[in-house]
Amino acid sequence: MKDILNHVGGEFVAPLTGRYLDNVEPATGKRFSRVAASGEEDVEQAVRSAAGAFGAWSATPARERSRLLIAVADRIEQELEAFSLAESVDTGKPLELARSLDIPRAVSNLRFFATAILHFGSESHTTDYDALNYTLRRPRGVAGLISPWNLPLYLLTWKVAPALAAGNTVVAKPSELTPTTASMLAEACRDAGLPSGVLNVVHGLGAEAGAAIVRHPDVPTISFTGGTATGAGIAAAAGPLFKKVALELGGKNPNIVFADADMDAVVSTSVRSSFANQGQVCLCGSRIFVEQPVFDEFVERFVAATRKLRVSDPLESGTDQGALVSRAHLEKVRSYVRKAREEGGTIHCGGEPPTNLPDRCKNGFFLEPAVITGLGMDSCVNREEIFGPVVTVLPFRDEREVVRQANCTPYGLAASIWTENLSRAHRMAEQIAAGVVWINCWMLRDLRVPFGGMKHSGVGREGGMEALRFFTEPKNVCIRYPEDVSEGIRP
Ligand code: NAD
Repeated sequence: MKDILNHVGGEFVAPLTGRYLDNVEPATGKRFSRVAASGEEDVEQAVRSAAGAFGAWSATPARERSRLLIAVADRIEQELEAFSLAESVDTGKPLELARSLDIPRAVSNLRFFATAILHFGSESHTTDYDALNYTLRRPRGVAGLISPWNLPLYLLTWKVAPALAAGNTVVAKPSELTPTTASMLAEACRDAGLPSGVLNVVHGLGAEAGAAIVRHPDVPTISFTGGTATGAGIAAAAGPLFKKVALELGGKNPNIVFADADMDAVVSTSVRSSFANQGQVCLCGSRIFVEQPVFDEFVERFVAATRKLRVSDPLESGTDQGALVSRAHLEKVRSYVRKAREEGGTIHCGGEPPTNLPDRCKNGFFLEPAVITGLGMDSCVNREEIFGPVVTVLPFRDEREVVRQANCTPYGLAASIWTENLSRAHRMAEQIAAGVVWINCWMLRDLRVPFGGMKHSGVGREGGMEALRFFTEPKNVCIRYPEDVSEGIRP
């Protein structure tokens, strides 16, 4: 059985703790590898390695950092099949999804930031006739990057690429549930010639390895993507240490459908926005609000389209829905289906494990996608993040009511609005409390735009120049003009 080791100082090393965790394939429920269960001492080793590499890496010209990151991207692209298979086996997601979304996006992340750094500028300000100010932006040192299991390589490279492009060195901790492609990334970096110690990967539990990174005094920058409760703990630990922290957290995203919308596009995109990756995308629209005149039509067509989704072995072609990431997560998601039933909701389809799975998958963590109506906004099913293949559909009367309902959870990550009325679309976009608002689309991503959530969905923004600003420290340099220059330029 394969052991997934830490990557420190350019070498794969066993955890100093001597402990390992089982890595289970969600589609089969069987252990297929072990992953290092690192502790404080492993984090210490990785931080020392990253801190040691920082001087030379931060002094490496941007064009050379860029060349190396592009070389890493090329290697991943050449190994697309191996990376996709590893991601699918680790997460339970359809192989086709890993092949078409996760791994290509990881490649794009690396290429995007490798080239963005070549165009990254800083500001200068003249203070009337007295002085010239310019802003220096320098890398901050060792960045601690902590990522979740739903889009493992996609979200890890979304942090690693800007951190390294900006000249920081990294200690990364991927989710203990999906560690494999992070190790493959470390291998690709080593093979591409990234200097030792620039990217270190420490595996293990969040409460052990993750927490040790957050409290380490030599890691001044923390970028975290994961659950809101975990993010609150990280903010509390990092605050008194005055770390720069970015938090990308949970969501309970509204998908709002007006009666004038193009119903074919709404139904097909809403099936994707509800159930892509088994509903385990932070941007999934989990509450669908439909204007009353088209509510019945929408429910009928949406349920029919959902029933057509094929839940099966993620490695089989033609599978739309694979397994959920773990037994514990499956049980959590099912508990919301039970609550919906107890609260008098109507379950139109799904919510139970499928009965016709191939033999290999009989003990896997599968759930038929569920569509629920009849629950009010006070139901926990409509307020709490479920993060699985379960959506609710709610009718609304008018714009004012739907804005209130959309904004009534503590979250504020993303929203979709479907309407042909452009004025209304602009009005709604202003009023919805979310970091991302899609009009007549979902998950249309441009890597240059600011990405992140409001309220309990996060603090700070990733993406484009925002990420490069996050991973650099601005310093204002103010030069007073000598008297004769100042006199000379005065009108
Ligand atoms: P999680 O919070 O359980 O874990 C995320 C990462 O944090 C893992 O690597 C975990 O090991 C680590 N961790 C856990 N406890 C820690 C601690 N005390 N200190 C430091 N690190 C710790 O989240 P998850 O279950 O892996 O991911 C699902 C969540 O992520 C959902 O809430 C989802 O909405 C959110 N998410 C958000 C975004 C976004 O961009 N906003 C993207 C993807 C996922």
